[in-house]
Amino acid sequence: MNLKNRLVERLKYPFSLDMESGPAYFKVAAPGPVAAGFTLGGTGAAALAEAPGPEADATLAENRRALLEGLGRDSFSTLLTARQVHGKRSLTVADCHPATLAGVAASEADALLTDQAGVLLGVLTADCLPLIMVERQGRAVAVVHAGWRGLAQAIGPAAVAEFECRFGVAADELEVYVGPAIGFCCFQVGLEVIDCFRGQAALAGSEAWWRQRPSGYYVDLTAIQKAQLLQVGVPAENVHVLDICTCCHDFCFSYRRDHAISGRQLAFVGIRENTVSV
Ligand SMILES: [Zn+2]
Repeated sequence: MNLKNRLVERLKYPFSLDMESGPAYFKVAAPGPVAAGFTLGGTGAAALAEAPGPEADATLAENRRALLEGLGRDSFSTLLTARQVHGKRSLTVADCHPATLAGVAASEADALLTDQAGVLLGVLTADCLPLIMVERQGRAVAVVHAGWRGLAQAIGPAAVAEFECRFGVAADELEVYVGPAIGFCCFQVGLEVIDCFRGQAALAGSEAWWRQRPSGYYVDLTAIQKAQLLQVGVPAENVHVLDICTCCHDFCFSYRRDHAISGRQLAFVGIRENTVSV
């Protein structure tokens, strides 16, 4: 069975597969003028981030250009990523001046927000959990890099609070999309990782987010993320989970599976500048 058939069988709304308009990606049916998705990885896929593997810079630049072009020729002028450090810092892109964008690109942040049209925000992952957040009418967006260290620092709720602070958007006005990440099936951890989460109020009274198996301890990143979001007021029906394990599927990059040769997947979201042309 080819890749498309394998995936189409398991994807459900709001997720679909786009293999026609540039690098293949899981497309999110987001509200209003918003474009959002999670690129695929794996052997032969178009890498969108530097990896210590064989991808040359020119190829990466071409893949990024092809992604922007595929989203609509006049929709986005740039793809913006910051320096990810497994922290909890959110940065808001308040305008699209070149100096502002350059400053964000050089800054350390694991969540990016904007209400500006024309700038596509991205985070890069290979097992860590990528989140896309969209105000329900598409007036503001965010993309979040949430590995277990980010989850331990509650970066998801921090980004939700930033929506309120910067844009006056309440938690129950957000749609949240959870992208491909290492699953409960594969994310084996040391006991110290479980201890990081034990005291979290969002997980109080629940043991469903971790499990001991004969091979060791396992953690469910998606369950933890969802519990944290619900605790700060995001409605359960607004949290949409793609439910694809990066480690189990060779069409995804997985740091744990591929080690140093892994590329990175891109989670991207932005408000289209020119909605007439798409
Ligand atoms: Zn798995």
